[in-house]
Amino acid sequence: MSFTEFDFHPQISAGIAACGYTIPTPIQKEAISPILAGHDIFGLAQTGTGKTAAFVLPILQRLLKGSRKKTRALIVAPTRELAEQIHGNIEKMAGRTGIKSVPIYGGVGKSPQIRAVRAGTEIIVACPGRLLDLVNDEAISLRDIEVLVLDEADHMFDQGFLPDIKRIIKLLPQKRQSLVFSATMPAEIKVLAQKILHRPQTVRINDSLPAPTIAHGLFQVKKEERTALLKNLLQKEEIKTALIFTRTKHKAKSLGMQLQRAGFKATSLQGNLTQNNRKKALDGFRDGVFNIMVATDIAARGIDVTGISHVINYDLPDTVETYTHRTGRTGRADRTGKAYTFAGPEDRKMITSIERNLGKKMAQESLPALNSGAKPSRQAKPSRQESRQKAMPAVRGSRGCSWSESLVLA
Ligand code: AMP
Repeated sequence: MSFTEFDFHPQISAGIAACGYTIPTPIQKEAISPILAGHDIFGLAQTGTGKTAAFVLPILQRLLKGSRKKTRALIVAPTRELAEQIHGNIEKMAGRTGIKSVPIYGGVGKSPQIRAVRAGTEIIVACPGRLLDLVNDEAISLRDIEVLVLDEADHMFDQGFLPDIKRIIKLLPQKRQSLVFSATMPAEIKVLAQKILHRPQTVRINDSLPAPTIAHGLFQVKKEERTALLKNLLQKEEIKTALIFTRTKHKAKSLGMQLQRAGFKATSLQGNLTQNNRKKALDGFRDGVFNIMVATDIAARGIDVTGISHVINYDLPDTVETYTHRTGRTGRADRTGKAYTFAGPEDRKMITSIERNLGKKMAQESLPALNSGAKPSRQAKPSRQESRQKAMPAVRGSRGCSWSESLVLA
């Protein structure tokens, strides 16, 4: 299937070409036609599946018809980074259409955002808090909204945005198209979706299964030896880009600094950074100024950096689902990736749950000479499992994508 089958306006097709997309991803194949037809959608898919284009392209097609300069589409996202990322994607895809998008989030001045909205924009991509602020200030009107997108609905719930979302929804016209995307479907999201969506179609891209292109390795290590192990691992492995997860913001910051002091091109991303510093860290990681990023789960949510070769769980995640999200940052789009987890005896239960979900044991890894500072000439030998996976053809595209025509929310 190619994008031509959707019959997009030539200006939108030019945007698709500018993004370098030729073949729709599974979620695009499944979601674009019903969105174009005006249906409400519940999309079970996470970042990395191409879901942004799945909703942006049909929205652009709708906006090309009808009045311009009015805000007719509202996309709500849980983090500033995701809002910026969606806005950036829209700018690329809408380049030839003249359709404008404005990102709205807190942590930066209101005035430039108000000016941008006043200049006229068809799309607003917003985080809930600042959006409500600007609506209260009467700087933004939601009365012309025709399409609402709630992106990463489960994360909005995790971050306590549900009351804000309900407030926003009350401000929207009743007659509208609503699209809700979520990586998981906890009960609260199910209830919310049932309230918001009118006879929705469900699109499900089964990403709760770990990608088969990822090799999973386990280091049994005491807490106090993790940093030494990490430095050693970073030296011995051929690391193109590594995303390292810690449990706390404080640890992300201090570990990032420790790695910098040890001479690594490392940065960190955590909730206490100013908006400017977050952007610097993220741009630096994307552009290769840094090839190592230490992050917390929330800070790393929704960030799309391609070509991550390693994900390292310095601290174990709290849930199996989070393990899948974290490790799904590598091994994308048929690339192979490595996911290493540091764990002690106290983590045994969680490791067993993760392995049950993986359907196999993680490869037991070990590095000799923990405290050696010298860079070895030889790289760490791949585990048997990794060798096996290298030999395997990439099968990521065949992971369960299923499509149900009927409402599956009940
Ligand atoms: P998303 O899940 O929307 O964050 O997209 C993940 C990545 O896939 C982004 O880098 C997109 O630019 C890219 N992408 C989206 N759609 C396609 C496509 N049809 N072909 C190739 N890459 C795509």
